[in-house]
Amino acid sequence: MRNAPLLRFALVTLAAAGVWLAWSQNPPAQLTMEKVTPNLYVIMQDGGNVAVMPTSDGVIVVDDKFAQDAPQIMSKIKTVSDKPVRYVINTHQHGDHTGGNEAMLAAGAEILIHKNARANMVTAKQPGLPRITFSDETQVFAGGKEVRARYLGRGHTNGDAVVYFPSERVLHTGDLFVSSGAPFCDTANGGSIKEWDGTVQKILENYDFDTVIPGHGNVAKRADLQKWVTTLATIRTRVKAACAGGAADAVSRLNLADLGMANLGMLGRGMTGMCQELQ
Ligand SMILES: [Zn+2]
Repeated sequence: MRNAPLLRFALVTLAAAGVWLAWSQNPPAQLTMEKVTPNLYVIMQDGGNVAVMPTSDGVIVVDDKFAQDAPQIMSKIKTVSDKPVRYVINTHQHGDHTGGNEAMLAAGAEILIHKNARANMVTAKQPGLPRITFSDETQVFAGGKEVRARYLGRGHTNGDAVVYFPSERVLHTGDLFVSSGAPFCDTANGGSIKEWDGTVQKILENYDFDTVIPGHGNVAKRADLQKWVTTLATIRTRVKAACAGGAADAVSRLNLADLGMANLGMLGRGMTGMCQELQ
């Protein structure tokens, strides 16, 4: 309390310097981990959902949140495995899914990502570039377990991978599916509101699974992903209607409250691009 005036001064100075966002991410939120199956865990809070599969020959991880979360991710993993992280698969390039890459590389992990997503990272000058890419599908193997990553088309970006754990009948969708509110169509990075629902439909046609780890939000079921196809189509129809009055203020005419999306979150950022695509 003694230093409160000084702290307040520091906050004002930081905010004025435009580094408020960076500051407010520090200290990081307390991460939580829950069991998805006896062989698969999910680490939640602060950034995208992280899947963790321990094997007898190292740990397979999907996504790694923000850089600030890496120490907590590592300590959570240590509670379920004494083996090092062997592979990290990034579902796409956004910083809330790849921020821990540098720490993972430093710990000796190999990171894989779709080639478009890596190119997006290079354009954005993001750190922690993966050293391995794939165009359609790739598999990693460790300790008798197999994990598959596959690109099925545009949606949230132009480089989203879905990651399948066949032994667990679980799918990590990255941000192609979120159970936490409105989706973000990153049109600046090749996202497509026209093709998104078709891409999710392909996921349903291609994989046998019971459980879905969304990019953000609570773990869901296959039926929730099925419903998401319709939700995306509804959003597209509403976005198109809102765009009719002009792209600049289209977001102010968009109402998705009945879909449980009273807060549109990042959605507005992709609005101009979506209006262009739906012209
Ligand atoms: Zn994302």
